[in-house]
Amino acid sequence: MIETVIAPGPEALGLDRIDPTLDLEREIERLRRDMNAVILAHYYQDEEIQELADFVGDSLDLSRRAAATQADVIVFCGVRFMAETAKILSPERIVLMPDAEAGCSLEESCPPDAFRIFREKHPDHLALSYINCSAEVKALSDIIVTSSNAETIIDSLPQDQPILFAPDRHLGAYLARKTGRDMLLWPGTCVVHEQFSERELLRLKSKHPEAVISAHPECPEAILCHADHVGSTSAMLKFVTASKDREFIIATEPHLIHQMKKAAPEKTFIPAPGADGTCSCANCPFMELNTLEKLYLCMVNMAPRVEISDALRIAARKPLDRMMELSPPAAANTDTPEPKPGFDPRANVA
Ligand code: SF4
Repeated sequence: MIETVIAPGPEALGLDRIDPTLDLEREIERLRRDMNAVILAHYYQDEEIQELADFVGDSLDLSRRAAATQADVIVFCGVRFMAETAKILSPERIVLMPDAEAGCSLEESCPPDAFRIFREKHPDHLALSYINCSAEVKALSDIIVTSSNAETIIDSLPQDQPILFAPDRHLGAYLARKTGRDMLLWPGTCVVHEQFSERELLRLKSKHPEAVISAHPECPEAILCHADHVGSTSAMLKFVTASKDREFIIATEPHLIHQMKKAAPEKTFIPAPGADGTCSCANCPFMELNTLEKLYLCMVNMAPRVEISDALRIAARKPLDRMMELSPPAAANTDTPEPKPGFDPRANVA
């Protein structure tokens, strides 16, 4: 895999040299102003990072923000494929990420060389890739999709067009069921959504019979078949906010619940359980690498920093542009949070 993240140099400030008395929030605020930076955070980030961010959203929201920003620096609090996407869409900006090791199990499950061979074996198939993949796999794809726009994009393709879908087999299978399309699926999975337990979910539901189950389509079918609602993180947030119900079981990375509680403080949100009956294993181990300290350090050190060769960037941009062209407009699609100050997810629900 081509390395796209420049690590901090030996002279860089390290975690062990941060002044323990420093007011990190205030320093990050100062750096953001001085650098003309925008901080983008995914819904799966820790609450304290979500609270500091200029925009919080899902992959599609954040791609749109990255493409449209006028800031000189994008600080991307998420995982590597998201920061890469920001750089591909905004090559003239400096793109920083708090931890160079913040990858993704879906990205790891789809090595570019193996994906190239897979494509070559099916030359008549259109390659749709979930945005959770490396820049190299994007460059080998025809259209990128997110969980917000995949169904619309697939429905826009001619019925007789064969499709292969990578890298998430659960999302691919869900989309095949929803759209009635027979798609070839790459066998990747997300470690977070894969670990939810059907048995424990039913046990939890029996204790909370009124609770409505909202699930992300990266979950296996055994979980999705019990869900009252299936959607992207933005769609899940919109659903629970608009719903008249009061209690919800949430089957995705549990940090999304932070925005749900802000949007609907009177409602109850219960994280879906893993096989041991707890939700503790549902935190994304890659997203968790990002901390406030590392966010501060990446702004001080201007690294880890995403750098992508022109050839790779241009090749990876084409399928992302196709995604943007084929996506429903933001307002009609999912809720895209408004910029701070005063970020309030309720404001986005029609
Ligand atoms: S939650 Fe899953 S898909 Fe999302 S970044 Fe983590 S490992 Fe990747």
